[in-house]
Amino acid sequence: MSNHARPLPEPDADSAPYWQGCREHRLLLRRCTDCGGVQFPPGPRCPDCGARTHDWVEASGRGWVFSWIVVHHPVPREVYQDEVPYVVALIELAEGPRLAANIVGCEPAAISAGMAVTVEFEDVTEQITLPRFRPTQPATPT
Ligand SMILES: [Zn+2]
Repeated sequence: MSNHARPLPEPDADSAPYWQGCREHRLLLRRCTDCGGVQFPPGPRCPDCGARTHDWVEASGRGWVFSWIVVHHPVPREVYQDEVPYVVALIELAEGPRLAANIVGCEPAAISAGMAVTVEFEDVTEQITLPRFRPTQPATPT
């Protein structure tokens, strides 16, 4: 890890519960209490029906790779030069929404579309914990 600060998310009124969930190592999704749709990223209104009322549900943490890029050129260089190559993927969660996150625990060349992944959490600072995904281990045959 470099000594230079990584750019980090800045929670706002809509996303603060999501980031608090990450700090507790729970992946929370905003759920519309009108139509039941789950949403990411969290916003002030349901994108499906426009309702403003919602609660939060904990996601399973499971999903699959929808798409991804492999970053070879560190920008900014001082921050990421020790981290390249790294993977930024769009993960489709089992609950439906897609979110962008790093994939860890696997060579970039081994990633494939539809690959099953499971969330884990990286405590970056006292305030910010980032979700990231790791290939799901297949069940051990018995
Ligand atoms: Zn709704």
